[in-house]
Amino acid sequence: MNSLNIKHNVTVILQELSDSVELVAAVKTRTAEEITEAIEAGVRIIGENYVQEAIAAFPSIGRTVRWHFIGHLQKNKVKKAVEVFDVIETVDSVSLAGEIDKKSRSINKIMSVLIEVNSGREPQKSGVFPEDVKSLIKDISILPNIKVKGLMTMGPISGNPEDARAYFTETRKIFEDIKKSGIEGAYMEYLSMGMTNSYRVAIEEGANIVRIGTKIFGDR
Ligand SMILES: *Cc1c(COP(=O)(O)O)cnc(C)c1O
Repeated sequence: MNSLNIKHNVTVILQELSDSVELVAAVKTRTAEEITEAIEAGVRIIGENYVQEAIAAFPSIGRTVRWHFIGHLQKNKVKKAVEVFDVIETVDSVSLAGEIDKKSRSINKIMSVLIEVNSGREPQKSGVFPEDVKSLIKDISILPNIKVKGLMTMGPISGNPEDARAYFTETRKIFEDIKKSGIEGAYMEYLSMGMTNSYRVAIEEGANIVRIGTKIFGDR
C-alpha cells in the first residue's frame, strides 16, 4: 500500500479511538518503510509476531515507539525478545514466564507481560484456557523480573465481528475477576482484544488495546 494511504488509515483510526484505547500496529510482513509511515502518522506502539522481524526493523526505528510482542514466543527466542520488547502479550505457561524472568534478570530488566487467553478453547491454538488463567497468574506474579499487566485474546477467526463478542465478554470477565481478587504482583491494567474486523466489538466489551494490521497497511 502506498504511504499516503497508510497515513490516512492511521489518522482515521486514531480519530475514532478514544484516548483510553491504545492502538498497536500489527506489522507482520510489512517493510521498514511502511512501518515508518505509520509511525509518522501517529502510531506509538508496534506489534510484532516474529522476533527476527523486530530485530531487523529495530535499528531504523529504535525507541521512538514501544514494542509489543504479539506472536507465539519460542523459548530459544526469549533472550533476544527481552532485549527488544517493552511488553510480551502472549505468555501462556509457567515455563515460558520462567524463561522470560530469567533472561530479563540477566539484563536487569523488569518485563511487562500480558497473559494470552485461548478464549475459544481451540486445542491447536496457543493461550491458556479461561479456567486456568488465575492459577497461571498466581504462579508467575511472584517472579521478580516479570510484571503481569493484563490479558490478551484473539478469539476464533470469523468473518463476522459479532461472532467474537462472546469471547471478548468472557475475557473481560476474567480480567475483572482477577482485578477484584487482588493477587499480589498482578496489575490488571491492559485488556488487549480486537483486530481489523473486530476492534469495535472488542472496545464495546472493554478492550483498551486493539491490534490492527490490515486496516492500516492493506491485505497481506
Ligand atoms: C496479524 C495480527 C493482528 C492484526 O490482524 P488484522 O486482521 O490484520 O488487523 C492482531 N493480533 C495478532 C496477534 C496478529 O497476529
